Amino acid sequence: MKSENIIYLDYNATAPLRVSAREALIEATKNAYNASSIHSLGRKGRSLIEQTREDLGKAINCPPAQIIFNSGATEGNNTVLKHFANETIITSAIEHPSVLESMPAAIRAPVLKNGVIDLDKLKELVKTHKPALVSIMAINNETGVIQPVKDIAEIAHNAGALYHCDGVQALGRIPLDMQDMGIDFLTLSAHKIGGPQGVGALAVRLCGENPILLQGGGQEKSQRAGTENVAGIASFGAALNETMSELNNYQNHYSALLKPIIETLNTMDGVTIHGLDAPRTANTLSFSIEGTSSETLLMSLDLEGIALSNGSACSSGKVEASYVLLAMGCSEKCAKAVLRVSAGYDTKRSDIDVFLQKLLKITERIRKK
Ligand code: PLP
Repeated sequence: MKSENIIYLDYNATAPLRVSAREALIEATKNAYNASSIHSLGRKGRSLIEQTREDLGKAINCPPAQIIFNSGATEGNNTVLKHFANETIITSAIEHPSVLESMPAAIRAPVLKNGVIDLDKLKELVKTHKPALVSIMAINNETGVIQPVKDIAEIAHNAGALYHCDGVQALGRIPLDMQDMGIDFLTLSAHKIGGPQGVGALAVRLCGENPILLQGGGQEKSQRAGTENVAGIASFGAALNETMSELNNYQNHYSALLKPIIETLNTMDGVTIHGLDAPRTANTLSFSIEGTSSETLLMSLDLEGIALSNGSACSSGKVEASYVLLAMGCSEKCAKAVLRVSAGYDTKRSDIDVFLQKLLKITERIRKK
């Protein structure tokens, strides 16, 4: 579902609700489903939740009983990080604010210039600080850079630490196999895959720890109190099944779709594509254009009916230099002249063509000033 007449290239921020997810959402709001009730409507609500749990378990190779539904990845990240509040945590300089701000005292491992975690530094930090938890994301939301999750898990486990992975931007884009990759805690969010906002999951491997943030009723096996969001979870399930059916061809599809952008940027002066030589998810492209500013580019593109962002989480409405790009060694100026294209299931080749046409025109105009 696309907003009328708007070319939407901001899928890493939130994806439009898929038609199947909308239908599941509407269907599951037709009755009063309280999954804890023992009457037939309660049992129907329960079965909708358990179906999604089973589907998600298959998608990430985790026993369904180890999956807790919650309000999204901010909650999932806070749940895990705060569980280890009294212990040493190593995270990275490029995590989402829901990791960094939930545990500001965590030690931050640096990244290389291409945005990949510096594994040698991580090994040193782990050896020196002996953390209880290592928390490093699978795919960065701003640059699309894919982290070596399996290596990170091995480094953490070899030092006796558990491994938490913010997998929000990875679900449906790369295979996420908790057992094979050695992920102890995995946070996910429905709205990044075309499910509804305000729904997510925390999957926990059998590792002897059961992080709990919200206490109260015994919902979610007493792991997460609060009446379950039955309709949201059912809708998450519908979005998940569609998303997983696209996984095999995902990288090829987006690599072909966004190729014209890379080709065009390569013809322009003063353009830096961030993380270009690193493994990246092909739907995401973050680049800086010298002589411009994110603010002016974003506003001008918005006036042309194109919605995208500079990539960094922003709640103030003001465009600030991205700490992710600064951590990658980008200058302040470069980090303030960045655009992030993030395409998704409804992006068409014609959207990319119009975007490029407008981008070239706008850049020329800004640079002339
Ligand atoms: N982690 C990453 C990498 C994200 O991109 C986001 C979304 O912006 C979050 C966590 C937070 O997710 P949610 O919106 O479900 O709280």
